[in-house]
Amino acid sequence: MICEDKEVLASMIEEARTYTGYGQLADYIPALREADPSVLSLAIYDGGETCAAVGNVDETFTLQSISKVLSLALALMDQGEEEVFSRVGMEPTGDPFNSIIKLETNQPNKPLNPMINAGALAVTSMISGETPDHKLGRLLTFIHELTGNPEIRYDEKVAESELKTAHLNRSLSYFMKQHGVFDDDVEDLLDLYTKQCAIEVSCQDLAKIGYVIANEGKHVFSKRPIIPLHIARILKTFMVTCGMYNASGEFAIRVGIPAKSGVSGGIMASIPHGLGIGIYGPALDDRGNSIAGMKLLESLSHRYDLSIF
Ligand code: GLN
Repeated sequence: MICEDKEVLASMIEEARTYTGYGQLADYIPALREADPSVLSLAIYDGGETCAAVGNVDETFTLQSISKVLSLALALMDQGEEEVFSRVGMEPTGDPFNSIIKLETNQPNKPLNPMINAGALAVTSMISGETPDHKLGRLLTFIHELTGNPEIRYDEKVAESELKTAHLNRSLSYFMKQHGVFDDDVEDLLDLYTKQCAIEVSCQDLAKIGYVIANEGKHVFSKRPIIPLHIARILKTFMVTCGMYNASGEFAIRVGIPAKSGVSGGIMASIPHGLGIGIYGPALDDRGNSIAGMKLLESLSHRYDLSIF
């Protein structure tokens, strides 16, 4: 069993760590520059009492784009598929996650998918709640349930740092508001979105969320559905087609596991009917994915034959 292979996992992590030197920290969100680029951690959860974890397992980090999977789950539960997909598409894009180009060239002007920033902003606007705080509270409660960790909060410093510098996300939002994708107050929406991205987790938390998504959305112990089955399927499908930004195709070939990354260096992976994996390695490659995290997932996939294809 992979979770018992602690020594092998520890040596795989040290091998993958050598790649951290070739990556860069995300610097467009100033607070993310403070991370230690040599950090790498891995957690694997198989639904048991404990979660196997190796490397710098005590490090916490912000979800960033990984939160897009969770806001999508909530918006789909709140509004239903028809409403959500009338405002955001289902197609991958070969463009970077914060690109604006297809918003203008695509007709109608709705974002191509919920895993790019434009799509995620539209999705966040569809989370139900009377106030932005209420919406954020609902997202946090959902994450507490998925992880079994009621301590999870958002990192105020990271949220504030992103909000101050989120001019590209502001532009995407104003463009979408003009084209009727949503009608929210843009500053309120950005405030909520940056707090959502700044939710702080450990790699063990990520592995547990990945596990629930992998296993039909069911609560680990009670087996009660936290996410309806058809929505858990939609999440995994988007993780395969769009989860690693414009490296998703190559990742599907080399690794073959539904996964979602964030610019903080986190990666959450879900092996259908199997393991949940959480990785943290803040040094990123040129597409914004954890450079050592990608290598680690590739070696795990080969060694334990984890590809779903
Ligand atoms: N908060 C980040 C942003 O909107 C998330 C992007 C990412 O992780 N790729 O730019």
